[in-house]
Amino acid sequence: TVPVLAIDGPGGAGKGTISRLIAQRLGWHLLDSGSLYRLTALAALRKGVPLDDESRLADIALQLDVVFRADHGKTVIELEGAVVTNDIRTEQVGDSASRVAALPAVRTALLQRQRDFRQAPGLVADGRDMGTVVFTDAPLKIFLTASAEERARRRHLQLREAGMDASLSSLLKEIQARDARDMQRSVAPLVPADDAVELDTTSLSIPEVVEQLTQLLVQ
Ligand code: C5P
Repeated sequence: TVPVLAIDGPGGAGKGTISRLIAQRLGWHLLDSGSLYRLTALAALRKGVPLDDESRLADIALQLDVVFRADHGKTVIELEGAVVTNDIRTEQVGDSASRVAALPAVRTALLQRQRDFRQAPGLVADGRDMGTVVFTDAPLKIFLTASAEERARRRHLQLREAGMDASLSSLLKEIQARDARDMQRSVAPLVPADDAVELDTTSLSIPEVVEQLTQLLVQ
C-alpha cells in the first residue's frame, strides 16, 4: 500500500507549510484537506445555501468541481473553472468552513475524494482527522501544535503575504473560537490519534520542524 504521512493539528500550527515542504522533499503528493472544507463553504456562500442545510451542503461537497494544479511550485485552486486560491483563505471562509465541517454528511461526502489523493509514491495529508478517520492505517501520524498566540501571529504574517490584513487580536479570537468548535464537535473532533507523535512548534523554526519530522520518517 502507498504510505501516508498524516499531519493533524489546530489551525495555524504550521501544518500547511510543513506538509508542503516535506511533500516536496520526498516527491510525494499533498492533500490539503482543509481546502476541501473551505471550497465547500465558499461554494455554499456563493450559491446562497445556508450553512446549516446539511443535505444541500453534503451535495455541494460531493459535486465540488475543483482542480488543484501546480504553477511555479505553488498550488492554484480552481472552483467551477475560476481561480479561488486566495478567496478561500479569508477569515469569513475559514469560519464558514469550520461550521460546515461540523456536519457529519459533509464529512462523509468528502471522504472518498480525500482518499483518492493516496497515490504512489506517497502522500502527505494535512488536516484535523487524517490520522483518526481518513487514513487510520498511516504508518506515521504527527500532531502539530503551537500556542494560540503564536498561531495568531503566524496567520497574521501569512495573510499579509497574501495581501490581506487583519488585526492580531481579532485573529486570536477567531483561532480560539475555531479551536473550540473543532474540538467540541461530535464527529471527528480535533484530537491526536492514539498512535500520533505530538510536536509543539511554538518555539521551533520551520526548518527545525521539517528536520524533526524527516528524522521520524526514516526511523
Ligand atoms: O486547515 P484549515 O484552516 O484550512 O481548515 C479550515 C476548517 O476546516 C477547520 O477549521 C476545520 O473546521 C475544518 N477541517 C476539518 N477537517 C480537516 C481539515 C479541516 O474539519 N481534515
